[in-house]
This record gives sequence, C-alpha cells and structure tokens, in this order.
Amino acid sequence: MPGIRGLLVDLDGVVYIGDDPVPGAAGVISWLQEEGCPFRFVSNSTRKSVRGIARRLSEMGIQAGPDRIVTPAVAAAGLARQRGWSRAFLVTAEGAKEDLSGAGIVACEDACDCVMVGDCGEGFTYATLNRAFRLAIGGVPVLALEKDRYFRDTDGLSLSAGPFVAALEYATGRNAELVGKPGPSYFREALASLGLEPGEVAMVGDDVISDVQGAMDTGMAGILVQTGKYTPAALAECRRPPTAVLPSIAALQEYLERHGEEW
Ligand SMILES: [Mg+2]
Repeated sequence: MPGIRGLLVDLDGVVYIGDDPVPGAAGVISWLQEEGCPFRFVSNSTRKSVRGIARRLSEMGIQAGPDRIVTPAVAAAGLARQRGWSRAFLVTAEGAKEDLSGAGIVACEDACDCVMVGDCGEGFTYATLNRAFRLAIGGVPVLALEKDRYFRDTDGLSLSAGPFVAALEYATGRNAELVGKPGPSYFREALASLGLEPGEVAMVGDDVISDVQGAMDTGMAGILVQTGKYTPAALAECRRPPTAVLPSIAALQEYLERHGEEW
C-alpha cells in the first residue's frame, strides 16, 4: 500500500461516543496537527452545524476549527454549487440550515432547484413532507443528506431521515440522491477540501459500510476502529477486508508512523 498523505476521520464512535471522548483521541488529533498531517473530520450528522460540532470537540479538549469539519450539509452545498443550484426547500434541522445558508444556499418554498432532506426530528410534519412531495412529484430533485434508518438517541432508538426519504421515494416512484456517507459525492467533497487524490487518503471509521467500504469504493484506504458501533459480526459481513483494523483511534499514531508519508 502506498503511503498515506492525509486522513478523513469519522467523529461519532471514533473520536467520541455520546458526550465522552474516546480515550487517547485528543492526543492523536493534536499529534496530527503538530505533524501537519492534512485531515478532515467527516460526520453524517445532519442535526448539528459544523460550528456546533467544533464547539463540542473543544469541550472535549480537541481544538478543530469549523473548516476542518465536513457534514452532509456542507457536501450538499458543494454538490448544489457544481450544478448551479442555489434555491432549496429544506426539510432539515437548524444545524444543517446554518451550514447550508453559510454556503450560499437560499431556503425557499417555491421555484426551488432541489429539495434537501436531513434528520429533523419533530420538524418532520405532514405539511413539510407534503410540500416536499409536491415539489418532488413536479420534477424537483431530492437530495438525501443521510438515509440512515434509525439512530440511538439518549432516550432510545429513534427514526432517522431514511424512513422519510423512503416515504418521498415511495410516493413519487423516484429515488433520492444520497449525499451523506457512503455516497461518493460526500467523499469527493471531503477529498476536494483536502486537495488530495483518493489513493493518498485513508478514512478512519467505526462503520464497516458507510465509512470503510464507502471510502474503499472511492479508492481510499479504509481503516476500521473497534469502538462505537463496531461489532465482529459487521466485520465478518464485509465485502472486502478493511485496509487495517485498529483497536481504537488511539492506535492511529503508531500505525501512521509505519505507513504515513511526509505530509
Ligand atoms: Mg461513526
């Protein structure tokens, strides 16, 4: 395997679990910064803005500016820009709205270039979804910021954006375009922000499909960490083995000292 010149690092389950940092994560991240290794945090979160995520990291002793963080909203804004789209009907939480408007996307109800759907909890009302449906059935493309089926909230398993995206797909008979991990446009946006080619970058994540397989399908190395949602069963179901399996992000420094290049 050629040397690694930059990294994409998943957050939930890798750097922190809930409100607790993974032991050793802060040390490895500050080592990456001291070494000048180019890296971006890549999160599938569509509730928190990049500024909100940066604040959370800082509370855990990890200093990372918002420009270090790529969320599906950031990637969706990049994709929209490429296509010359600027007006979107947003079915998203405030965090994603903040990232989208910061990237020049104008929220609107009519004459929209696209519909964007992220996890928005109580915001998934009949009126909002029906508005999205009417636009979509009229031919407006739907971008799914994520399509997870459910997630573990503090009070139990909870519906994520996927079931609502599926409702729009069912009603219109057309598939939405997935922007979040493991969609290729997400990884392309993150790589563009690093200015590196896929073959120069390794993705570090706890999700075998979204992080590791998704990155490897894009041409990156895939490093699986055995924290967060990792299970041996998920690893056994992998289409192809990860480039490396590490006990946690704490083992990343030693791994990179063996496989990384001069950044
Ligand atoms: Mg994760």
